Order: sequence, then C-alpha cells, then structure tokens
Amino acid sequence: MADVDKGVNKILAATQWLGHDTFQIKAAGKVIYTDPFKLAGGVPANLILVTHDHFDHCSPDDIAMIQNADTTIVAPEGCADKLQGKVRTIKPGDKIDVEGIGIEAVHAYNTNKKFHPKASGWVGYVFTVEGVRIYLAGDTDRIPEMKHIHCDIALLPVSGTYVMTALEAVAAALDVNPQVAVPMHYASIVGTEADAKAFAAALEGKVRVQVMARKVGVGAP
Ligand SMILES: [Zn+2]
Repeated sequence: MADVDKGVNKILAATQWLGHDTFQIKAAGKVIYTDPFKLAGGVPANLILVTHDHFDHCSPDDIAMIQNADTTIVAPEGCADKLQGKVRTIKPGDKIDVEGIGIEAVHAYNTNKKFHPKASGWVGYVFTVEGVRIYLAGDTDRIPEMKHIHCDIALLPVSGTYVMTALEAVAAALDVNPQVAVPMHYASIVGTEADAKAFAAALEGKVRVQVMARKVGVGAP
C-alpha cells in the first residue's frame, strides 16, 4: 500500500459525501455532482453524472436544484429522457469530454439479483479531474470488468440488497486496487454505517479506505 499521491489527497479534500451515491467535487474550477439525491439546494453544477434510472439515482427534482443553463448532465437512456437542458446520453464503453473532464462510461450490473440487468445499459463512470481518475461504480455487483478499471479513487457501493455486500465490495476493491476506496450507498435506503466499517476493516493493510462523514443540508458555498 503505497503513499497516496498529493493530487489524490487534494481531490479527496475537495469531495463531500452528501449521502447515498451523491458526491460533490469542486476541482479544476468545476463543480461536479454524482447521482444527486435528497439535496437541500447547493451550488450549481458544471457537470452532473447520473448512473441509472432508479429514483434514488436519477432524481429530476434534485437535479433541477443544482442545474443552470450551463450545466451538462450525463446519463444513460431512460434517465436522460426524464431530464431537460444540456443532456448527453451515454452507454457503457462511451468516452466523452465535458469542459475538459474526461468521462468514460463503464458497465454496472447485478450478477446474483435482478434489479440492475446488464441489458439495461446502465453505467458507472471513470472520470478524470486534475489528472486524478475517479471511479463511481454505480449500482453494481462485483463484475469481471472491474479488474480492468484503472483509477486512483474508487467510490464503491457496500450495502448489499440491490448492490454488492460490504464483503463483496472488499473483493471488488482488491480487483480495482485504487489508491483510496470510499464506501457509498449506505445509511440512506439500505445499509448502515456498520457496512462501511466492515468494508474498511477488511481492507486494512490492503487498500486504503476513507469513510466520509456525511455532509447534511448542503447549500454549501
Ligand atoms: Zn438502482
């Protein structure tokens, strides 16, 4: 487990977890949100990444709260259809650039449950901010494609039920082998802080884990 690059620490410091799969990253002069859900306002986004069409990920009301005329939203078909403004539809394997942020859509799907079929074409993302590659896994199980993900920071679901369990996420983190793994998708719909703690404990000495404190009520400047 090597030291974490300065650039990676800088991006982590610029990242706030707003609960579930919602992160706000302020870097490269941009404001980026992932899967906005249960927001209490917030500074407008330059870029919003949406992984799939479920209400706790594709929430038009939450998106509208942080959207202005310049905001680009990237989303797969199904979700994109529900949104207005600058929307770019994406599918797994697509690579696009939004205002200098490189974005690659990757597969996200279930292997042992039915909620997120591979055939839906829903996605996770690997996006690059200030040279740091961030993997937002989306709602997924541990899938073979993860061994081919190259990233510095991995945002991984740990709750079980609709996605992989904390222990399955441990195996996924070892596959992906990021500099830092961050648990998500708990303490909102399903999963608890115990899942995040179990994830961190099982990866001790193998992959560095940062359990983020949830920032509530962000209209954060
Ligand atoms: Zn889902």
